Amino acid sequence: MTDTRATELAARLAETRERVDAARAAAGRTDEVDLVVVTKFHPVTDVLHLARLGVRDVGENRVQEAAGKVDDLAAADAGLAAAVRWNMVGHIQSNKAAAVAGWADRVHSVDSEKVANGLERGRARAADERDGVTPLPVLLQLSLDGDTSRGGVTREDLPALADHVAGLGHLRLAGLMVVPPLSGDPAAHFADAAEVAAALRRRHPDAVEFSAGMSGDIEEAIAAGSTCVRVGTAILGPRPVV
Ligand SMILES: *Cc1c(COP(=O)(O)O)cnc(C)c1O
Repeated sequence: MTDTRATELAARLAETRERVDAARAAAGRTDEVDLVVVTKFHPVTDVLHLARLGVRDVGENRVQEAAGKVDDLAAADAGLAAAVRWNMVGHIQSNKAAAVAGWADRVHSVDSEKVANGLERGRARAADERDGVTPLPVLLQLSLDGDTSRGGVTREDLPALADHVAGLGHLRLAGLMVVPPLSGDPAAHFADAAEVAAALRRRHPDAVEFSAGMSGDIEEAIAAGSTCVRVGTAILGPRPVV
């Protein structure tokens, strides 16, 4: 059973890496594109398999589930756990942000000053408690259509949020993240978001990351300049319905 699952994950991971490489080649790109494997709703045994297969970046989108898996992975295999980089990609309530800063290695979904301030507080506390805590890399999540109920900051409010985050000592402004609107052409949405990412980079030259692309639109995102795709279903299969 377990062996079957490991074999299946290895095959889908290899296929996905091939998709990423083919998309980079088609776009004439020689730079790296990070692959974050989003394991939400799937058990920590899958994270173990993936880590053994060399996956470094693991993504989660629900705070409580993520915190449990971080602990379970460390208990199951401390060596592998140390090699995994936990990426928070989902919505964060501001009162949960400080706790997220305790376990996350990168956060893709900062969309308000309140969330940023909570992360800052949590990271400062973590730095007081243990050695080796570095500033937390964070990306600002852009809402392209202005419907912020799906998360994200509007393009109008983005520059002020970026300036705010850049002024926080325990966070590092790393770039922009986008989940395209459900309707419309993903390629056009990614091109639009890439322009916002370029504008952010002009204002904050170190904010070079552009997190875009999921199972269904890896190719379109990489063509538009994504530096990080977040892939769940294509590797783990359908999520269990809850
Ligand atoms: C679930 C999720 C993904 C992965 O989506 P798939 O379509 O399963 O690849 C990517 N980004 C975010 C923010 C997610 O919540």
